[in-house]
Amino acid sequence: NNVKKYFPIHKGLLNRVVGNVKAVDDVSLTIREGETFGLVGESGCGKSTLGRVILRLQSATEGSVKINGRDVHSLSNRELNKMREEMQIIFQDPFGSLNPRFLVKDVIGEPLKIHTKMSAKEIDERVVELMKLVGLDPTRRNRYPHEFSGGQRQRIGIARAIALKPKFIVADEAVSALDVSVQSQVINLLMRLQKEMGLTFLFIAHGLNVVRHISDRVGVMYLGKMVEVGETESLYASPLHPYTAALLSAIPKPSPTKKRNRIVLQGDVPSPANPPSGCRFHTRCPFAQEKCSQVEPKLEEVLPGREVACHFPIGVEGGSDLSKLQ
Ligand code: SF4
Ligand code: MG
Repeated sequence: NNVKKYFPIHKGLLNRVVGNVKAVDDVSLTIREGETFGLVGESGCGKSTLGRVILRLQSATEGSVKINGRDVHSLSNRELNKMREEMQIIFQDPFGSLNPRFLVKDVIGEPLKIHTKMSAKEIDERVVELMKLVGLDPTRRNRYPHEFSGGQRQRIGIARAIALKPKFIVADEAVSALDVSVQSQVINLLMRLQKEMGLTFLFIAHGLNVVRHISDRVGVMYLGKMVEVGETESLYASPLHPYTAALLSAIPKPSPTKKRNRIVLQGDVPSPANPPSGCRFHTRCPFAQEKCSQVEPKLEEVLPGREVACHFPIGVEGGSDLSKLQ
């Protein structure tokens, strides 16, 4: 609820704070139990920061995060440690996030060592079980992470993340570094585990194409703000926010006969230290009108199950018209 995460900018010999990078700027969002919520946006839009704040891997500047009714940011260290068993993160770069000097069995078994009283033998048995569950050969558990391929390393990261039978997992660009074919294998694995274990996912990626298959609902972030949230199929079929439409235009067309009005984004993302006034997207939006640079649009439900932060949502009465672009 109303989560903000600001990073102070320091300058000069005295290290004075001269401003803030508003990485996440007043974001509210609900993730339902058992669903996969896909979160997308260009790099630097605040999606990873939001994921980390939700898990309290980073503090929030303002706002609250509740998981099953409990405010994660006001837990004591002991309570937090207990709750950590229920919430896990899978990172983008499995090579970087896996300790290269640990054997794979130790990488996967580490959370069990820290959080449970299991014996070494019990941990080893559980590691074998986990490796089978994620499609790895358990006879290779005495090897090092670098002896595995990128897709296999991602599976090691997943085995580690599910070792404590968590309820909620943040997957931060978990498949972004992988080849497309390996990507879909890992996504299928995550979907199977979700079904079998009743997991809830926050699935972060920079492109809309990656999250489509796995997500029940999708949220789109731009410069620290949530600009659109909706049921996956309906959001892909008819994006309401011009930025969502632009991200969709970047995906190759499914069939050459199907015409799609393209929005090609001009220029770079402005600095989150000094975001544009009003709607932050107005400097790049082909539909911007005078009001857009003056008044900040709030995220509102304009159609059932569809929220958007835009004064002139696409396809809504009085809103923007994609077909007028060309
Ligand atoms: Fe574009 Fe205006 Fe909507 Fe912002 S509020 S996305 S500038 S139309
Ligand atoms: Mg990121």
